[in-house]
Amino acid sequence: MKIGFIGLGVMGRPMALHLIAAGHDVFLHRVKPASQALVEAGGTALNSPAEVAAAAEVIILMLPDTPDVETVLFGTEGVAGALQPGALVIDMSSISPVATKQFAGKIEAAGHDWLDAPVSGGEAGAKTAALTIMAGGTPAAFARALPVMQILGKRITHIGPAGDGQTAKVCNQIIVGLTIQAVAEALTLAEWAGADPAKVREALLGGFADSTILKVHGERMIAKTFDPGFRIALHRKDIGLAVDAARALDLALPNTAMIHQLMSAAIGQGDGDLDHSALVRTLQSFSHSA
Ligand code: NAD
Repeated sequence: MKIGFIGLGVMGRPMALHLIAAGHDVFLHRVKPASQALVEAGGTALNSPAEVAAAAEVIILMLPDTPDVETVLFGTEGVAGALQPGALVIDMSSISPVATKQFAGKIEAAGHDWLDAPVSGGEAGAKTAALTIMAGGTPAAFARALPVMQILGKRITHIGPAGDGQTAKVCNQIIVGLTIQAVAEALTLAEWAGADPAKVREALLGGFADSTILKVHGERMIAKTFDPGFRIALHRKDIGLAVDAARALDLALPNTAMIHQLMSAAIGQGDGDLDHSALVRTLQSFSHSA
């Protein structure tokens, strides 16, 4: 298959590499020094989203935020104006469900297929092709995208029509964000109470408090290794989508609003580009100077 891949960051690089390794012709944008290895592995670097759209029948996006997706799709030299007839666009970025419905409408009105298919599982899941994928779109678009998604992920669920994949991802990010805060508070209490946080974490694994967050992010908090991973700035973007959705529905999500504030504090303190497990630093800064 001829597959375009736009957005070669922490997640996009390993994902594109799996597609190349699976034997597909992969057309890449933007190739920077960090993504040069993809060209060496057999991918083709192209100069614009439009060039990618002209070269490929399936176009995958893995971009930071809603405005980036809008620019790549509909901006100058964008994907939309250059798509092959009956192409399939799969947006795997985490962006606004509301904007997604508009983007999908425009792409589908031009005779193409659309799937929003954001992911969970982080950099590790991208590298091991074990991502959880939540999809929104028509059953036909889902069926068409499935063989490609199976190269990238393990648990792949068709939630419903366009936008529903992004709604599921927002739900995921609420749970991840609040669980990170819970683990940060628990391990901080352990440390200040004089109990070894590493031993506390170890003791809790396998009990009701166990979670991927306790395992993975708890370990990062204890080791104080905050290389992204998933940047706090990107997680605040997702929590902002949750806050916006709740406001639009006149729905109170008090702890979601609170974690949004704590993420803003982290970003204000200069930690926006650290992994989201660094929220433990923000928490601790409220009680003790570093
Ligand atoms: P990232 O910032 O590392 O990568 C984004 C890439 O997109 C960068 O390489 C950037 O140069 C590129 N880009 C931006 N605008 C572009 C444009 N106009 N044309 C071409 N390339 C452009 O982000 P990431 O961590 O890889 O995340 C990507 C998406 O996946 C985000 O929506 C994020 O929320 C989501 N996500 C990330 C993780 C994670 O753990 N990192 C996990 C799940 C979902």
